Amino acid sequence: MPTSPSPNRSLRCPACATEYELSLSRVACECGSPLDLVAERRPLPRSLEGRAPGLSRYREAIALADWSLERAYLGAGMTPLVAMGGGLHAKCDFISPTGSFKDRGAAAVAAAALELGAVEVVVDSSGNAAAAVAAHAARAGLRATVVVPEGAPEAKLAQIRAYGAAVMLVRGPRERASQLAMDLSRHEGRYYASHAYNPFFLEGTRSWAFEIFEQLGAAPETAVMPVGNGSLLLGVFAGFAHLVDSGLVTRMPRLVAVQSENCAPLAGRPARPLGHGLYTDGIAISKPVRARAIRDAIVASGGEVVVVSDAEVREARHWLAAAGLWVEPTAAAAWAAVSRPGKSEGHIVVNLGGAGFKCP
Ligand SMILES: [Zn+2]
Repeated sequence: MPTSPSPNRSLRCPACATEYELSLSRVACECGSPLDLVAERRPLPRSLEGRAPGLSRYREAIALADWSLERAYLGAGMTPLVAMGGGLHAKCDFISPTGSFKDRGAAAVAAAALELGAVEVVVDSSGNAAAAVAAHAARAGLRATVVVPEGAPEAKLAQIRAYGAAVMLVRGPRERASQLAMDLSRHEGRYYASHAYNPFFLEGTRSWAFEIFEQLGAAPETAVMPVGNGSLLLGVFAGFAHLVDSGLVTRMPRLVAVQSENCAPLAGRPARPLGHGLYTDGIAISKPVRARAIRDAIVASGGEVVVVSDAEVREARHWLAAAGLWVEPTAAAAWAAVSRPGKSEGHIVVNLGGAGFKCP
């Protein structure tokens, strides 16, 4: 039973400004846009000493109740920050319950599902988000249905099934899987847990910024991460903005979004038809649904989009593994971006968001 009230929250469309009450069935705006969460938040205190790890550690800044976060908690977050020399730091989000940073968002979405009275979550994903949602649903006592585009890596499918989720394989473009998952989620008691659409996913990824602040004692000059649907970048932007508002840091880090030469819509490259088995499958999103918000965040932070080649990603992946950090290709893409000459000054935090076993 709830032991604390849920925070005051509603939904608002960033495209047409329509507002909605928060509900299980409200997946997107009538205009088709994903929705933003509007919530009352309080400043974070300077010291979080004595608080347990997990999203409730940052309860002032995350619009979910402690009771639901506890019921969905599997240990996501508080991942190591490893100094790599030359001001570079690897944020080891591949050390997570299901092996990817998506656990941050999935923990928040599972908590929201509990608060809204769901019995089942429905998600579409090429792999890591689905595994994260399936695991957190299992933890929270929710059923999970996962719609996966055909061609998703076998290791990821095995992991999703292991958590007990029902898996539906769908042929054709990635968007078809999203449409089917949205249709399925219209049934009563089901909640659409998409990392691209569900705004609670970003409540979870905010924690990345708060942890970096705790680990460095300041905001880094630059934060580098691979971007597909932007669910990490948007959470990180909101998280640092909250730290600025709380008076704990004086500025936003430069946000560097890394994309693959095979799929770089944020760099203004025309989307190519995406074949299966792309090396960096985790960021092969030709039309990110929150593209405008992603671009705005990058510009507001003074950041940029960096496009890397598969050859650079392979080299970065080998280099990291030889240094003791075995990550999946999508995660290595971020490292490829900082391996080039002429990198910037100060602390640079690079997110390594997926484990090597995801794509052996
Ligand atoms: Zn709208």
